[in-house]
Amino acid sequence: MKAPLSAYKKRKISLATVLSGLVFLCVLVTIILVLLSSFRSSKLLMERTALSTNFSKASKMSDTLDALTKTIRLSLKYSVQIEQEGMWDEPDQVQRMNEDLNLMKHSSNFFNSIVVVDKHGIIRGATEEISSLINEPITSASLKQALASRRSSISDPFFDERTGNLFIMVSEPLYDKNQQYEGFIGGSIYLKKNNVMNTIFEKNTNDFLESYFYIVDQQGNLLFHPDPMLIGKNISKNMVVKKLMAGQSGSEMITSINGSELLVGYASVKENGWGIVAATPMQSIKDQLVYHFKNAAVTIAIPLLLLIFAVIILARRIANPFLKLSQFVSQLGDAGELSTWRKNHWIRETDLLIKSTINVGSLIQAQHHQLTKDAETDPLTGLMNRRTLIKFLTLWMEEKLPFSIIIIDIDRFKRVNDKFGHQAGDAVLRQLAQTVIHAIRPEDIGYRYGGEELVILLQQTALPEAYLVAEQLRIAVEEGVDPVVGRVTISQGVAQYPLHGTSPEELLQKADQALYQAKNAGRNQTIAAAAEV
Ligand code: GH3
Ligand code: MG
Ligand code: MG
Repeated sequence: MKAPLSAYKKRKISLATVLSGLVFLCVLVTIILVLLSSFRSSKLLMERTALSTNFSKASKMSDTLDALTKTIRLSLKYSVQIEQEGMWDEPDQVQRMNEDLNLMKHSSNFFNSIVVVDKHGIIRGATEEISSLINEPITSASLKQALASRRSSISDPFFDERTGNLFIMVSEPLYDKNQQYEGFIGGSIYLKKNNVMNTIFEKNTNDFLESYFYIVDQQGNLLFHPDPMLIGKNISKNMVVKKLMAGQSGSEMITSINGSELLVGYASVKENGWGIVAATPMQSIKDQLVYHFKNAAVTIAIPLLLLIFAVIILARRIANPFLKLSQFVSQLGDAGELSTWRKNHWIRETDLLIKSTINVGSLIQAQHHQLTKDAETDPLTGLMNRRTLIKFLTLWMEEKLPFSIIIIDIDRFKRVNDKFGHQAGDAVLRQLAQTVIHAIRPEDIGYRYGGEELVILLQQTALPEAYLVAEQLRIAVEEGVDPVVGRVTISQGVAQYPLHGTSPEELLQKADQALYQAKNAGRNQTIAAAAEV
């Protein structure tokens, strides 16, 4: 009856697995939903923050650059005093001017170099690192234009082969005391070297979102960019640069030329028409979010594992009673005792189910025992019945246990019935059964074989010994006097397994034959079956 459980295990899912699975699924789905929605709102928030941060960064830088340009211009304007035309020809004055230029360069750090150019386009004064250019003519078109314009100007970026530098020049016109135009003073900013812009702005290029910024001039030339290779390039086709060149400021998400998305804030500089763009790659925001959520997942993982572990244990505890109940119920039909499992359970319904099942089970078991007993015993004598005799004979023979058999028949019993009535006969039968029970050992069993015929099976007993038992019984019966019927005698046949037969029928037949001989020989005697020849 216990076999089905293991077979079931293969085909059906256990309750514990279903419960654990359900809880796990719920927790997992909840975590995924929470993480997803939090991911989306965090992304939106970070995008908005990046846009407004970039805009305010660009605006602040624009203000800084605006003030810086004004300061630079003023410092240039008042750095050189031209006394009169022809000052360039007086070495003392030129030397003093050069000293002034060097002093200015070192004190302000605005420029990488400073030059003074006369109205003919000849370099007359220069800071020390380019002093070799003194008395050389200017070559760049934009410097020539600055000279011709006689106004404050900032040049396009240009490459000077003599110094090997890419630079822009901030220039201020020079007038003598008579308001005669004498040339200009120009401060150079070397775009690819340490300069005033990267000294001020470089710190802002790297934050954890890999934000960076760049500066473009009015024509869309890159004056500052974290990638030095790009400095000097014209990017006027860029949508944001176009807006800057039109003097606009703002923030938006754009797609760069290489296809990546950028969150940019931009602002133009009033003083010089430049524009500043602060940009954050969308990818770095996504990377940050992924990093953040990976961390969150790792943080969640350990409590989650503990939770799953606890759920599995709990689910097993919930499911275990059902397993035990099924074992309990399957044991109901067995001959053995029921398991002594009588636990209370902390779940009310389970507790009720256990208790009611145990009650019903015990009832069924008791009934089962009674039915089994009824099926095995003879109601009149209380001895085992014929069917049980056959069962035991067969069993012992299968197990090859040696034993002997006594078959008993009451002598002239018909007469007892006739003379004293059937009930008196029954009483004689009952009395005989009691005498048998007293006469045999505990391990031997008495049966009612037929009407007034009884059988005794004697375990591990050889024929002579069985014969003695039979004789003792016969004498006991003979000596016992029934108050109604008086003296009753019995005749007996004895046989031995496997000596006289190897099947129940054969052995019974042999014993019966011996009994028959006892009857024929005058009754009230015991005869052992003859050995096979
Ligand atoms: P014998 O010495 O040859 O055995 O003579 P007998 O009269 O005992 O003959 P037999 O064994 O053939 O008779 C069986 C009788 O036992 C028949 C029947 O009246 C009686 N009998 C059988 N079963 C019962 C029973 O349950 N109760 C009573 N009172 N009598 C029974
Ligand atoms: Mg008989
Ligand atoms: Mg008889």
